[in-house]
Amino acid sequence: MNKEELQKIKEYALERHIPIIMDDTLEVIDEILTKKKPEKILEIGTAVGYSAMCFSEYLVQCGRIDTIERDEQRVLEARENIKKVGVEEKIKIYEGDAVEILPTLNEQYDVVFIDAAKGKYPFFLEQALRMLKPDGVILADNILYKGYVMSDYNKHKQRTAVTHLRQYIKEITENPDLETTILEVGDGLAISKRVK
Ligand code: SAH
Ligand code: MG
Repeated sequence: MNKEELQKIKEYALERHIPIIMDDTLEVIDEILTKKKPEKILEIGTAVGYSAMCFSEYLVQCGRIDTIERDEQRVLEARENIKKVGVEEKIKIYEGDAVEILPTLNEQYDVVFIDAAKGKYPFFLEQALRMLKPDGVILADNILYKGYVMSDYNKHKQRTAVTHLRQYIKEITENPDLETTILEVGDGLAISKRVK
């Protein structure tokens, strides 16, 4: 993997305010993936491919990441980036709305990374659980959404997202099959391990 190219892609994404994974969040996930050595990862929200390329380092040989992105421009850019970095064998991009694509997938994943429309997190969770291996882990980025999720006051604009993020947190904490930790790294990361 061409790390210099990956660094350039990261900087270029940050310059344009594309919401790529934050360094401290990535550090936590790196640790999880190092232990887990995943064979298959599902990512919801590719953007320009940055997080998927970072995760691809931790796959076992012949492992794969399936990642979904609905923005046509970003899909094009992600495909170019993945080639530049030399990881095109490891990452498969599905172009379209994850709400439509997820129900068509029938794979088993070691890790699911949720990083797309906040209002859809409960639906993404349902789909992630359907495809998660018995010892798999679901990671949800932006779960604290700039502190709005834990605050009483929310502007109308954020209300729907906040409601759905709170519902997501309620479901993962109440589900007896999951062991959940919520970390204040980056914009908030929920880690849910399937224990049965
Ligand atoms: N995981 C990336 C960042 C993703 S940003 C990284 O860390 O590098 C979130 C992305 O999700 C955006 O590019 C947005 O277009 C996409 N997205 C949002 N809702 C989506 C949906 N319903 N289906 C597919 N992609 C979606
Ligand atoms: Mg994110």
